[in-house]
Amino acid sequence: MPTTANVTRFAPSPNGPLHLGHAFSAVMAHDLARANGGRFLLRIEDIDGPRSRPELADEFRRDLAWLGLEWEEVPAQSTRLGSYRNAAARLEAMGLLYPCTCTRKDIEQAGATPGPEGLVYPGTCKGRPVDPAQPAALRLDIVRALALTGPLTWEDALTGVQQADPLALGDVVLVRKDLPASYHLAATLDDAADGVTLVTRGADLFAATHIHRLLQALLDLPVPRWHHHPLLVDETGRKLAKRRGSGGSGFGLAERRLRGEDGPALAASLRQHNFPAGISLAST
Ligand code: GLU
Ligand code: ZN
Repeated sequence: MPTTANVTRFAPSPNGPLHLGHAFSAVMAHDLARANGGRFLLRIEDIDGPRSRPELADEFRRDLAWLGLEWEEVPAQSTRLGSYRNAAARLEAMGLLYPCTCTRKDIEQAGATPGPEGLVYPGTCKGRPVDPAQPAALRLDIVRALALTGPLTWEDALTGVQQADPLALGDVVLVRKDLPASYHLAATLDDAADGVTLVTRGADLFAATHIHRLLQALLDLPVPRWHHHPLLVDETGRKLAKRRGSGGSGFGLAERRLRGEDGPALAASLRQHNFPAGISLAST
């Protein structure tokens, strides 16, 4: 094990209240930093335009404080758009981006196959002239990018060394139609800028790391290690998710805090994998 201090982060998006899965993730990231005198960072990932609710960021800080965690907050994503634009311009100058005007429906109708993160883009717009007046996203040409970098590996603390397989996700969007970055570009640049050395997050983002590793190689960014932890699931085996309303209905942090539950006691039981009724750790 490396002896250098870990810099970890918790990077919530203010698009819905946090749930127990977030508490588990934040406590784990916090402890992995504190275990060797490192730093635990909070980064608010607030570029998701209309879905972002700025007031939730304050609620997140109250939730973390209630759990008994201490953190250093780094600038929110909305303040870093310039760095996303610069990186995109660099990738564009390398000939690695192409405009895509497809809607979700276009992609479905083009017979896209499912991948680890939804449908794999079938490359419809690659090499196709695009009307500059039409709103377009920019996609990363994975085949060309890999031809530049050669094979890459990355290391997960729980599952070991992985062969990077960005082809499994296909030509992902790096610059959205409405934003100067996608999640992949923003999070990768921010982790580098923040000096994160151990990216701690849920196993649902495991596959995304193949893309992040490729971006690091293309943009000469330092390569951290990752720790993808198992997700919390409910009685029906479904993972807790904001989009399914897990921030409410008993699993939410703010609702538990406001009800007067003991936050540090909850953090302690999460550390012991002693989960509240109805919750367990996914086996994969
Ligand atoms: N902002 C993302 C989320 O709320 C997490 C991104 C990450 O940890 O890489 O799901
Ligand atoms: Zn397209």
